[in-house]
Amino acid sequence: MSLTENYQNIKLKIPDHIELVAVSKTHPAEMIAELYEIGQRVFGENKVQELTEKYEKLPKDIHWHLIGHLQSNKVKYIAPFVNTIQSVDSEKILDEINKQAEKNDRKINVLLQVKIAQEDSKFGLEISEAEDLIRKKMAGEFANVNIKGLMGMATFTENQEQIAGEFNILKSLYDKINNYFPLEKLSMGMSDDFLLAIKSGSNSVRVGSAIFGARDYR
Ligand SMILES: *Cc1c(COP(=O)(O)O)cnc(C)c1O
Repeated sequence: MSLTENYQNIKLKIPDHIELVAVSKTHPAEMIAELYEIGQRVFGENKVQELTEKYEKLPKDIHWHLIGHLQSNKVKYIAPFVNTIQSVDSEKILDEINKQAEKNDRKINVLLQVKIAQEDSKFGLEISEAEDLIRKKMAGEFANVNIKGLMGMATFTENQEQIAGEFNILKSLYDKINNYFPLEKLSMGMSDDFLLAIKSGSNSVRVGSAIFGARDYR
């Protein structure tokens, strides 16, 4: 199947009110351009340098989402143009994003990445840390970031019940925070689990290999 056909098949499976972030990491700008031509505007990348190179080559109305762990010293490279940083996993990085957004005289959308997987290899905030950052935002800190929602990744397993359980933990936190601070994005679900994630309440999915094919890491 062609890239366009893959994309259209995935689009058909995702209800219209749910955001699709097309995860284009490791794939060339030409493939992004092909999907741009048929209307896709939101793309996800996990490395700062790759994101910056693609930003320079491609149309400027693309909404770029950073979805990978971000180091403080690299925030400055993406702060002028990034639409959303989904991978805020510490107060330190949120602070730096806020500073760089201020320097660029703009606001940057962020999602708080919460650790829901049982594997301990994954980055992310503890639930209490995420709520702490929301409270600080409510108290007036981080004026140049919009905390739009939460992001999470389930454990890499075949066990659907475990994955659903982890998604439910994030959905509960999302609902709880929404009682005192308005959030609009619940980003969960990837190629193998986006349908389950949507059933669990996700309204933004990050789909890479199901659209672009397998990644070739070298
Ligand atoms: C790579 C990546 C994805 C996409 O993964 P696929 O399984 O290829 O859909 C989604 N989210 C994050 C955070 C990623 O790093």
